[in-house]
Amino acid sequence: MTMTIAFAGTPTIDDAPGIDWREQAACRNHPEPNLWFPVGINDPCDDAKDICVNHCPVRETCGLVANRTRERHAVMAGFRCSDPDEFIDLRIWLGVENPARRTRTCRHCGVKFSTRHPRRRACPECRDLVPLEPVHRHIQHLRNVGKYTLRGIAAASGVSVGTVSLLAKGQSPYEGPYVSRAIAARLFAVTTEQEAKTA
Ligand code: SF4
Ligand SMILES: [Zn+2]
Repeated sequence: MTMTIAFAGTPTIDDAPGIDWREQAACRNHPEPNLWFPVGINDPCDDAKDICVNHCPVRETCGLVANRTRERHAVMAGFRCSDPDEFIDLRIWLGVENPARRTRTCRHCGVKFSTRHPRRRACPECRDLVPLEPVHRHIQHLRNVGKYTLRGIAAASGVSVGTVSLLAKGQSPYEGPYVSRAIAARLFAVTTEQEAKTA
């Protein structure tokens, strides 16, 4: 499916009369415009973000436009606007919103992290999400073949018992069927004894 870059569909958004900032956009005429339209929160958009952040001369104007038009779909100015948290990050970057920086404890891994985001409770690493289902199947495998208990999996992986219990039921501590890449990696590092011997 081919989609149109957000600004191309919003013709009344110029900030500077007489200067069409869109002419200078790094994403203009890019051969893969879909990069700027990740389908879901798990659909990577790092390539688009990299172009916005490192190669676009009109990033700030683009960000102001995204904020003013309350963009909710595209990646603009290097932020995934469909993610409410990233949209707040965009506003913080623009200086439109400037909440105090706080130190919080990640609710998933317990690491302390610093954020200005008023609602953020997960550290940057735990916000990098991957699909839940393979992790769920791996935990089932550890229990059925490796005879692990949930506590045993938690102890071997360093993931909390509560999170392991949720994942074992196919549920996620996140919104949607996802789990953090860091937690998934820790759980995949735990193997059954049989696999460990043949590895
Ligand atoms: S910041 Fe990104 S989305 Fe905005 S114009 Fe530049 S390349 Fe396009
Ligand atoms: Zn974390």
